[in-house]
Amino acid sequence: MDVRSAPVIFVLFGPGGAGKGTVADHLVANDPDLWLSRSWTTRPRRPGERDDAYVFVDRAAFEEHIAAGGFFEWAEFLGNLYGTPVPDPPPGRDVLLEIDLQGAQQVRRLRPDAALILLLPPSTEAQEERLRARGDDEGHIAKRLRAGRAEEREGRAIADAVVVNRDIPQATAEVAGIVGRYRSDAGTVGEPAEGSENPRPQAPPTPRVPTAPPTSPTDDHPEGQ
Ligand code: 5GP
Repeated sequence: MDVRSAPVIFVLFGPGGAGKGTVADHLVANDPDLWLSRSWTTRPRRPGERDDAYVFVDRAAFEEHIAAGGFFEWAEFLGNLYGTPVPDPPPGRDVLLEIDLQGAQQVRRLRPDAALILLLPPSTEAQEERLRARGDDEGHIAKRLRAGRAEEREGRAIADAVVVNRDIPQATAEVAGIVGRYRSDAGTVGEPAEGSENPRPQAPPTPRVPTAPPTSPTDDHPEGQ
């Protein structure tokens, strides 16, 4: 195993219903050097959802963890809090985060050397179908579809790469290719994503741990009203 002093942080982000969770699970199943961070959330567990999908906590416990500096990033999304604990991967393994746009924006600021991969659904219809299959109620699905449009536009502005999830094997293979190129090219993932405003980092900075909470967590995205 290639033991590096600082793990690479890969971020898979994008609108709900893009298939991030499934692609992330497939990636780590096929890449022993990739370690998937488990997020905390105040959202109640969905019927049938794995009990290790998140660390499910109440708001008081989440806020205590914020105060203790336990989160690398956190955000409020549609009324629930979600946060990535300060990463502590086993030696030599890179970190994979599966998070929302606000989280990706924070990671971009905290670790400019992180690789941000935007995963998009192939169509609104496919996205809606995936959201519905999870058992979310209609109101929540409508909010997520509206939020998703802003997430795609703002996501393209910070992404290093954009992958459209037509099917799981294709999307997983594309993301795995990006991960491989990023590792072997010392921090580049090819051409910047179309429309990306993200400047290439010149040198990998030392890992940093946030000392302050996110600037403006919201319970929805600006255009999601
Ligand atoms: P869901 O409730 O559908 O599981 O997740 C809602 C959104 O929160 C998804 O876009 C998911 O990727 C995102 N999310 C999950 N964990 C985290 C996290 O630790 N931080 C942030 N910022 N977003 C997260």
